[in-house]
Amino acid sequence: MEYVMQAHLQEGSSPSDEHPRVEYWHIAHIRETTALCGRELDPSAPKQSTDAWGTDGSQPFCHTCGALYLRQVP
Ligand SMILES: [Zn+2]
Repeated sequence: MEYVMQAHLQEGSSPSDEHPRVEYWHIAHIRETTALCGRELDPSAPKQSTDAWGTDGSQPFCHTCGALYLRQVP
């Protein structure tokens, strides 16, 4: 299973902004638009590899997604 980190942007921030402000990084299955925690994600929101998981680049992250992700990845 492949996962991707996807941003949920702050109110008033848009994916087309030069520097979109990230409220939370969620984790979703690569073919899904719903995060592991159940939140609907905007398909145009910024994404990054789960390689960033656990680094400063993944902050602030969704704790629900984090807990579920750790359970699914050996
Ligand atoms: Zn989440």
